[in-house]
Amino acid sequence: MTTPRRIVIVGTGLAGATAAATLRERGFDGEVTIFGRQSHDPYELPPLSKAIMLGSTDEPDWVRPAGYYPDHAIDLRLSTIITALRPAEHRVVEADDTEHPYDRLLLATGSRPRTLPGFDGPGVHTLRTLDDSLALRAALKPGARVVIVGAGWIGCEVAAAARTHGAEVTVIDPLPQPLLSVLGEEIAAVFRDLHAEHGVTLRLGTKATGLATQDGARVVRLDDGSELPADVVVVGAGAVPSTGLAEQAGLELAAGGVAVDAALRTSAPDVYAVGDIAAHDHPRHDGRVRVEHWSNAKEQGAHVAGNLLGGDEPYTAEPYFFSDQYDLGCEYRGLADPARDELTVRGTTASREFIAFWRRDGRVTAALNVNAWDDGDALQALVDNRAQVSAQQLAEADLGELAAGAR
Ligand SMILES: Cc1cc2nc3c(=O)[nH]c(=O)nc-3n(C[C@H](O)[C@H](O)[C@H](O)COP(=O)(O)OP(=O)(O)OC[C@H]3O[C@@H](n4cnc5c(N)ncnc54)[C@H](O)[C@@H]3O)c2cc1C
Repeated sequence: MTTPRRIVIVGTGLAGATAAATLRERGFDGEVTIFGRQSHDPYELPPLSKAIMLGSTDEPDWVRPAGYYPDHAIDLRLSTIITALRPAEHRVVEADDTEHPYDRLLLATGSRPRTLPGFDGPGVHTLRTLDDSLALRAALKPGARVVIVGAGWIGCEVAAAARTHGAEVTVIDPLPQPLLSVLGEEIAAVFRDLHAEHGVTLRLGTKATGLATQDGARVVRLDDGSELPADVVVVGAGAVPSTGLAEQAGLELAAGGVAVDAALRTSAPDVYAVGDIAAHDHPRHDGRVRVEHWSNAKEQGAHVAGNLLGGDEPYTAEPYFFSDQYDLGCEYRGLADPARDELTVRGTTASREFIAFWRRDGRVTAALNVNAWDDGDALQALVDNRAQVSAQQLAEADLGELAAGAR
């Protein structure tokens, strides 16, 4: 493999910007160009539904400090949309038809919020960008009637922020619990109770079907026939990976994203993909793994830099994410199927200070620590090693010793 001179990155999110910076930090002195639809310098998304939504700050966490990109000869092209990829010609094409050749290309186009038919117009919000976050926060006034469609992580975090601002909050979801598909019934109940205690009205097991106007005021219609007056509507119905360029260029797709091998290479020569769109071969998981997590974007972005420069290193990190809602903070490591994996709780869920483990065939597939911060390294080792341990050990043993024994 020859050393590239021109590396082009599409997407100025955490994954793309981290890759660009890491190329320079590894000493690459060829051309690095990074194209992004947004007008802001690259920033991280988690504060958009937490510190910014709560009003503690107006600034996101920037991926690199102001001035970093020009200082490191990274050609950061903001407000620029790439509309086509021509892998056979090693070119991408901008919206104005300008063509940009590459030796290696990185797709880091991330996701966009899922929209729901019938949910649009003034006062209807989705949350993906800094501008989305500031606009929604401005609407979270004391007493405002906020209806959130979707009880996933973003719906839950926005509900917490909206209650903190004194809004009246209703959360609607067709499933009977918030976060049910990720956490399973027993742990999802912790989040249901948390929101109920903070005054959120939960309309679970109910579908929002559309918007209507009643006596001049907007209402959200539910499939049980009821109507909820809404000053603010937030659609938190998940994200859709932005795979348009890859699809149109005929790249192999998998798991809703772009298929990549363990070294994050797509099916087209010299084209790599990272972050939310990358569905990658993972040595410890069946099939392809595609996750929409902050750490995955950051770590894959850093990892792929070496492979863009000619390396062939597999990406093997386990998925990791975190969430903060009111006074509950949690971290999740690994990837469990709560419908199939066996749950063990260390501590009690009622105290909201516990660790939940999931095991399959006696091996740890995932761990969730809730308001418990002392055992992160041990949890990581147990998950990384798919440790074979009993439920009793997980509930009672010293986790450091258990993890050391499992290495
Ligand atoms: C509000 C919010 C809170 C979150 N909180 C957490 C959290 O607490 N913990 C956690 O683990 N994860 C969290 N996540 C998820 C996590 O932030 C994402 O998984 C991660 O940021 C994805 O990074 P990315 O670089 O792959 O994609 P993105 O951040 O989506 O970046 C992709 C960029 O590419 C641009 N782009 C797309 N197509 C084109 C094109 N054709 N031409 C030019 N540019 C293009 C997009 O405009 C976008 O700016 C959160 C996400 C959101 C939205």
